[in-house]
Order: sequence, then structure tokens, then C-alpha cells
Amino acid sequence: MRTPIIAGNWKMNKNPQETQAFLEAIKGQLPDPAQVESVIAAPAIDLNALVWFSKDSALKVAAENCYFEDEGAYTGETSPKALAEMGVDYVVIGHSERRQYFHETDEDINKKAKAIFRNKMLPIICCGETLETREAGHEVDWVVGQIKAALAGLSAEEVSKLVIAYEPIWAIGTGKTASSDQAQEMCHEIREAVKSLYNEQTAENVRIQYGGSVKPANVQELMAKPDIDGGLVGGASMIPESFLALVNYQ
Ligand code: PGA
Repeated sequence: MRTPIIAGNWKMNKNPQETQAFLEAIKGQLPDPAQVESVIAAPAIDLNALVWFSKDSALKVAAENCYFEDEGAYTGETSPKALAEMGVDYVVIGHSERRQYFHETDEDINKKAKAIFRNKMLPIICCGETLETREAGHEVDWVVGQIKAALAGLSAEEVSKLVIAYEPIWAIGTGKTASSDQAQEMCHEIREAVKSLYNEQTAENVRIQYGGSVKPANVQELMAKPDIDGGLVGGASMIPESFLALVNYQ
């Protein structure tokens, strides 16, 4: 059975002081990690505080990006090796904002996934189509194509452990959630793609999140779907009470 995983994505919000205050506000109120895994993805500048102030809690820590080399002359980049040494558990890669504003390609995402595994962390690999692609009826091909490219060269064992986040771009930060049926349908297609690329067991193991205007009011309906194993949540993860309502949806 797959353990549900709810991850907040703070994007480029909050400083280390605000990170500390957030963690103090949620202290002792996270669910048992065997029931629901709670994760926060924070800007690189906040990760040290996030790791430090969540030390004795069930919270897992995610970076929002990293580079695919471990070290070297790459001014301004974040080393996956240093993230792992700091105590980071997950790295979000391929978020649509990174693809759009920072020109992250499928090939970069694949290299980053390998770098994350090499450093004993786990990737949360984002995928998702634009409204235009959906209206043209090409959304499944598009998303499956992104997943195939991201997973290229990864072993079945690695894919069993990673997380895929399906985030239709038209639903991010717009208040316009995909219907739970639309979200389920795509998460199912992604699982089928993993099954055909690997095998049934790997497809059963991989956890697939939905993201795009997830909030306390719709989390239960989404999580009730058989192929939705979690949420990647932007706006509604920023306030402690709202994050707590999401992770304690059961
Ligand atoms: P949202 O963002 O929940 O604010 O729509 C989701 C995301 O971008 O991960």
C-alpha cells in the first residue's frame, strides 16, 4: 500500500524567520508519518532553518530545485550533494514555473533526477499540460511524454520510490482545480505509463500527487480517488492552520 504524501510548495515565499515561526505553529500537530507523510518544499535560503526546526518532528524537507552536478564552477546553483548533507529528503524538479521561466528542459529534469538519486534523496517530478494542449485533446500524450523523458535510464527500484506530481498548468494558482475525475484520469494514465515502461509492481509502488489549487475544502475528494496518492500544494500550504488541515485530511 502507498503512503499518502502531502507536500507544501512555498515557491519564492518566506524567509528563515518566517520558516521558524511556521514550524513553531505546527509543532506536534502533524499526522503519524506511517498514515500520511507531511513535506514542505522551501526556497534554498530557508532549508537550513526548515531542517533545523523540524528535527524532532515528522516533517520531511524538500528543496524546490537543484543542479545536476554535485559541485563545481556553476555560480548561483544549488548542489544536490550539499542538500543531502544538510538533511534534505526530497527535491521538486520540473515544476511548470521552472520550465516556463527558467527554461528547464526534459533533459535537465532527467539529469537532475539522476543526481538526486546519486545523493540518496528522492525526486518529486512535476508534469502537466497547458490549457491549450488540453483543449486540443493532447494532454495525455504530452504528460506521458514528459514522464518518459524524466524517467529515462532510471531503474525500476528508483522509480518505485520517487513521487510524480501531476499539475495541470491551468489549475496552478488560478483557484481553478481540475475536477477530481480529471485529476484521477491523468494520474491513472501516468500509472499505466509507468507500468508499460517498467512493470506492474513499480506502477503500484510509485506515488502520484495532484497539484493545482488544492485546499482544505477539496483535499478529501481528491484523495479519495484510487490513483491520487497526495497533493503538491502552493497557496494553501503557506498558512499553518491550512497546511495542518491538508495533512490531517483523514
Ligand atoms: P497552487 O500551486 O496550489 O497555489 O495552485 C500548486 C503548485 O504550483 O505546486
